[in-house]
Amino acid sequence: MAASLLRRGASAAGHRRCPAEVLRRLVSSEAAPDRGPSRAAPEMPPFDHQPRPYAGMGAAEIFEKRKAVLGPSLFHYYQKPLNIVEGKMQYLYDEHGKRYLDCFGGIVTVSCGHCHPDIVNAVVEQTKLLQHTTTIYLHHAIVEFAEALTSKMPGNLKVVYFVNSGTEANELAMLMARLYSGNLSMIALRNAYHGGSAGTIGLTGLQTWKYPIPQGEIHHVMNPDPYRGSFGSDAAAYAKEVQEHITYGSSGRVAGFIAETFQGVGGAVELAPGYLKLAYDIVRKAGGVCIADEVQSGFGRTGSHYWGFQTQDVIPDIVTMAKGIGNGLPLGAVVTTPEIASVLSQKIQFNTFGGNPVCSAGGLAVLKVLDKEKRQAHCADVGAHLVERLKSLQEQHEIIGDVRGRGLMLGVELVTDRKEKTPAKAETAELFEKLKDLGVLVGKGGLHGNVFRIKPPMCFSKDDADFLVDAMDYAMSGL
Ligand code: PMP
Repeated sequence: MAASLLRRGASAAGHRRCPAEVLRRLVSSEAAPDRGPSRAAPEMPPFDHQPRPYAGMGAAEIFEKRKAVLGPSLFHYYQKPLNIVEGKMQYLYDEHGKRYLDCFGGIVTVSCGHCHPDIVNAVVEQTKLLQHTTTIYLHHAIVEFAEALTSKMPGNLKVVYFVNSGTEANELAMLMARLYSGNLSMIALRNAYHGGSAGTIGLTGLQTWKYPIPQGEIHHVMNPDPYRGSFGSDAAAYAKEVQEHITYGSSGRVAGFIAETFQGVGGAVELAPGYLKLAYDIVRKAGGVCIADEVQSGFGRTGSHYWGFQTQDVIPDIVTMAKGIGNGLPLGAVVTTPEIASVLSQKIQFNTFGGNPVCSAGGLAVLKVLDKEKRQAHCADVGAHLVERLKSLQEQHEIIGDVRGRGLMLGVELVTDRKEKTPAKAETAELFEKLKDLGVLVGKGGLHGNVFRIKPPMCFSKDDADFLVDAMDYAMSGL
């Protein structure tokens, strides 16, 4: 242990880490994982930030209080949950000042980086001036933000409704689809996640997230999953099944179809190429509208395109978004055509916080930062490097069944048997803990929790990518 600390201290200095940080790391809980290969553990890239000393409540106490006063539905990562007290760009700091590489961005939400100065500044300045009035009065921030957002959309997607979360965005989209089409049936994909409200639980296609409540007229069609799906990458075969659901399982007329282009919670699954074009055609012929859930895949994260749906060369009728749009602010949006938007003029449709000055100012700052810092191109560049490294890691470790995704929207699926694709549940859990001990926080997904989700803040660098892969290699070598 002492040797390991010395080795770490020496190599940290070699990376020109400031002495205070080296010292803090030595006295902090940063310990080498219990088991691992005999070689030295990989070192995190240096980073010039000094976290504030933390004197607040400790992890154990928070955990006990949380259990007492917060609902039991809350779940946490890691056997000993982390108390994260500070964040800076792609790094997080726990209560002891230990630094972590954040490869999950608060569940694909921190797009620009933790506490990005431009966004903090926009939020603080607006908060000092005016925090809230609702849309019963005029305010410039909401229209500036809506204009900037629609300028990023293709086709006639020109009207915005602001909400506070992805769930709300999908609720509203489903409502509009039903009102606009005059039909009830919604089609969603198996393995999808669209939210946790009574309505969106219905759209969600993962039993782990669904309570047994009436889900209304919702049809879950086969998931066009190239790795696990019954038809592999055969988009036409999956699309045929959509048609069959409509023909045999509905009145023949549907309200709409909703899909993530890159399933997030379901384990970083990119839909079979060409699928959305075929499915959209079928749904539109049956009177339905097509909804793209961009809650995770928007804003350039995929690298090749600004929106996930563009990777499938389609233009949806409604686009829902949240998470990355606010870099951590509670913010969601539904963007649609003027024609579809007009269905909500028949009654009062109101959202108290939707488009409030603070979130609008912050959201606008997010869009500006992503452009100014050329984050889409950055995601393409770093993502390509990371995929290449992960694919070569796959050649070395039998446990890696699949490496998939694009940009900084990646998944690594772990299996105990590559042919049978048996989910490596226990091994994933073990590696997950080891990675955390090495200073790497990844996400987990898929029905069996055997997919590492890598969707970091978009400022994630190639050095970070190398460290992540080296840490995975190190942890896997010790399995
Ligand atoms: N859609 C997708 C694709 C999501 O990943 C999520 C959240 N994981 C939601 C909708 C719901 O968003 P929220 O948690 O903000 O309600």
